[in-house]
Amino acid sequence: MRATLIAGNWKMNGSLASNASLLDGVRAGAASVNARLAVCVPAPYLAQARAALAGSAVAWGAQDLSAHEAGAYTGEVSGAMLGDFACQYVIVGHSERRSYHGETDALVAQKAARALACGLTPIVCVGETLGEREQGATDAVVVRQLAPVLDAVASHLGKIVIAYEPVWAIGTGKTATPEMAQQVHELIRRTLAQRDAGAAQAVQILYGGSMKPDNAKELLAMPDIDGGLIGGASLKAADFLAIAQAA
Ligand code: PEP
Repeated sequence: MRATLIAGNWKMNGSLASNASLLDGVRAGAASVNARLAVCVPAPYLAQARAALAGSAVAWGAQDLSAHEAGAYTGEVSGAMLGDFACQYVIVGHSERRSYHGETDALVAQKAARALACGLTPIVCVGETLGEREQGATDAVVVRQLAPVLDAVASHLGKIVIAYEPVWAIGTGKTATPEMAQQVHELIRRTLAQRDAGAAQAVQILYGGSMKPDNAKELLAMPDIDGGLIGGASLKAADFLAIAQAA
């Protein structure tokens, strides 16, 4: 039985002042939910997240890491640095990084491997655009995005988390129906099983894309949906916790 994980992706939002009440609210509500909680905050706020959440049931993490170990990579943040702030998770290959920063499938795979090498759990995002879905290419896109990641993580497959995030559903208010999402989650698990059947049953596959308190229950009821990666609704403690309560 896989534990449910509800992870927040704050994106480039927040301030020291607003984060304080959000973190306190999430921490206070964590005991009343039947799911593992995590917040992936902007890198400058990792120390704040650590101070606010240490000793609680809520894990914290980052939204990206460098594929490099260390050195002359201005502006980048290494996996070891995230480890210094006791991060457990790091999002890798979010569609906003793929589209605005030109991240390729190969780079995403390198980042996933780097995260594992630094003791972090990568939350690897995959998902098709609206155009790709309309062309009937969803399965091919997801399998193509996954393949280099699975090569790169090799025998550590059981240590990653995957998030299926249809790009057309992110921040748009459009959600995949539970059946549409389940179909892709099942494909992802089948693809993992071709590499390692045991690990495939253990890997948490999250759904992301306009998951909200009012649609979370139906999505989380699907057999291969093991949690959510939550953008907009993770910025309000009450909404984030309500999604977790639906688990
Ligand atoms: C995300 O950015 O990962 C996401 C799922 O965003 P939203 O929930 O706002 O669609």
